[in-house]
Amino acid sequence: MEKTTEKAEQVLKQYFGYDKFREGQEKIIHSILEGKDALGIMPTGAGKSICYQVPALMLEGITLVISPLISLMKDQVSALNQAGIHAAFINSSLSFRQTLLALRYAKEGRYKIIYVAPERLETEEFLDFALQSPISMLTVDEAHCISQWGQDFRPSYLKIMDFVVKLPKRPIISAFTATATKEVREDIICILNLENPEILLTGFDRKNLYFSVQTPKNKYQTILEYIKINSNKSGIVYCSTRKNVEDVTERLQKDGISVTKYHAGLSDEERQHNQDEFIYDQKQVMVATNAFGMGIDKSNVRYVLHYNMPKNMESYYQEAGRAGRDGTPAECILFYSGQDVITNQYFIEMEKENEEMDEEAKKLVRERDKERLKRMTFYCFTNDCLREYMLRYFGEYGSNYCGNCSNCMTQFEEVDVTEISRDIIGCVLESRQRYGINVIMETLHGSNTTKVRQYQLDRNSYYGKWNTYPIFKLRQIFNQLLLKEYLHLTEDEYAIIKINPSAKGIWEYKETLRMKLVKGEKAVSIKEESKKVAEKIPLTNREKELFEQLRELRMKIAKEERMPPYIIFSDKTLTDMCVKMPYSKETMLMVSGVGDAKYEKYGQKFLDVIKRYSNQIEGY
Ligand code: ADP
Ligand code: MG
Ligand code: ZN
Repeated sequence: MEKTTEKAEQVLKQYFGYDKFREGQEKIIHSILEGKDALGIMPTGAGKSICYQVPALMLEGITLVISPLISLMKDQVSALNQAGIHAAFINSSLSFRQTLLALRYAKEGRYKIIYVAPERLETEEFLDFALQSPISMLTVDEAHCISQWGQDFRPSYLKIMDFVVKLPKRPIISAFTATATKEVREDIICILNLENPEILLTGFDRKNLYFSVQTPKNKYQTILEYIKINSNKSGIVYCSTRKNVEDVTERLQKDGISVTKYHAGLSDEERQHNQDEFIYDQKQVMVATNAFGMGIDKSNVRYVLHYNMPKNMESYYQEAGRAGRDGTPAECILFYSGQDVITNQYFIEMEKENEEMDEEAKKLVRERDKERLKRMTFYCFTNDCLREYMLRYFGEYGSNYCGNCSNCMTQFEEVDVTEISRDIIGCVLESRQRYGINVIMETLHGSNTTKVRQYQLDRNSYYGKWNTYPIFKLRQIFNQLLLKEYLHLTEDEYAIIKINPSAKGIWEYKETLRMKLVKGEKAVSIKEESKKVAEKIPLTNREKELFEQLRELRMKIAKEERMPPYIIFSDKTLTDMCVKMPYSKETMLMVSGVGDAKYEKYGQKFLDVIKRYSNQIEGY
């Protein structure tokens, strides 16, 4: 074991420039090298690619990697080529002649790793190559695409096994995904026919991500302010509808932000173009629906903002997880408003009818979706550690204080809210459970609004009883009452408050209720949050200057070579250069992310900039 591990570490250092394997990588690599099948379930950004790329380089023959998206393959292959590894892809972006050429090279044994789209496996040309070549391993990336339970089911993934059985010798099969649910996991093992696989499930926690939920009065202004504070950092803004994407993009453009957009309503061409602009760092912000992101490996996304709340925690964690793949601090902020719940409820009702499902199955799916939406909403309401909430959702346990989420950074106080909760219940009961949260809040607060007058709620005996109590606190109490399921909202368009039987204890003075409420005026503001996160980046101002110079050089090289900048070197690698200040080949190779091939290509150029910079400083 030690020997192969040592060898694997050498490969990691030589090609990828990293010193150590991350949690889990070593174990799975070792078992693959022993000839065992493997299933790796690791969160986005955990480093799944290394788990099959390192063994691919150490196994005798060729490794085939099945991957669902063209852009993903292109990216991965560029990254491998940059690292000095012979790799190619076969997919529909190649012309027939290009395909034949690639396959000819493949047959000659020029490639160690070949990425291939699942639907290509069946073609005559590809089979012709595969049957004559030594295939040591077949890797299925984004393996959840094989499962109908997942959100990204791809029927073509089902063909993988038809292909495998045609091969003269069964290769090692390894599969990777970030989707953790049991159904999906079982589907992968069963459909891919994994034989006694090594299963690796690493923790889902992403320590470098800061999580926050905000309920600003003006979402757009808050987001704009945030983007301005974080100028020249790359970020994604997710919206729930195409219309929101269009609106937000247009407004940001008018406000002078470098922005592009992505949703399913755009032509293939425009989508590709916009995606490239973002990936190549030509546009700073991507505004998109959930159609954007799968297979985006851009490692320097510094923040993911949600303009709308997604439909479940799975989606949220996946989308938010696109931030900070390079392991350095990044932020995930969700901007919640009550309207988001209604929009999502509508989506669930309108869910495309699945022909293959009978009435009962459809109903079951809808119920499940509603339950998930509820858990997502509660994420926005909770005053406990957000990370803990999330991990618990995925079946893990955190420490209930992470120190790196908006709730852990907000001061709360325990307050007895029995009296006010009782009045909320009383007000709802007296108005015969016919109104939504806002109207009830206005009533308790004694507001003189059209709705209050129209429904004659100014005659309600609770009218104005809490007129000096801050509205934002009242709302928090409402949210907590929903979270603790004393109240619930109906699922129609108007979201009416109803009282649950469990509220009886409060109503009858048999139960006291204490809640954790935000102390002082309001939760930490975006500005303060951003400052705190910025402080976590371990660079001094001087080092930041150097960082900018290195970034410029990277951009220049990226343009010359028509490569995304992060494929040349990640932000993390540049940061490490600023800290380590290498002055020679040897010291440069000690920087995380600088391997032999990249040193040969770029090492000297970066050394030059660092040298010039340190001379300048010493000249002071
Ligand atoms: P995943 O496919 O699991 O989402 P990737 O394979 O794209 O993640 O890896 C995410 C990032 O982590 C990449 O930039 C990769 O180079 C980096 N990485 C992977 N393994 C290591 C390691 N052992 N040390 C340092 N960085 C690593
Ligand atoms: Mg991946
Ligand atoms: Zn926390």
